[in-house]
Amino acid sequence: MSDRAPSVFSRIIAGEIPADVVFDSDRVIAFKDINPQAPVHVLVVPKTEQYANVAELAAGDPELLAEVVATAQKLAEELADGDYRLIFNTGQGAGQTVFHVHAHVLAGGLTEGSLV
Ligand code: ADP
Repeated sequence: MSDRAPSVFSRIIAGEIPADVVFDSDRVIAFKDINPQAPVHVLVVPKTEQYANVAELAAGDPELLAEVVATAQKLAEELADGDYRLIFNTGQGAGQTVFHVHAHVLAGGLTEGSLV
């Protein structure tokens, strides 16, 4: 068992913090980012908080990473025109603040500044 406090995303998954959920499956949830950087900005998050970043997820459960990517694709088609940026900030120096792996999906009228 982890001795870390639950991540903010685990608290959303547990229903303790409200979120605007746009997709929910057995292993993945997606919700709108609270501080959007593009017309469509959703976070796709594995429900387990076992993986801090995308490298750990790729090594530990590549099928789950593939589900994250497929979910991003589906949401970009549903919520925008199908084109999107998929960003995994990895490490503090790259701006990662929540160490529970998550994909930023940015879509819908992107500008060069929409990089999270
Ligand atoms: P950064 O904060 O630099 O984008 P991350 O890549 O770790 O770092 O992204 C965390 C993201 O989680 C941020 O875009 C932030 O706006 C979002 N976020 C934090 N708390 C919530 C919340 N309660 N509901 C939705 N999004 C949230």
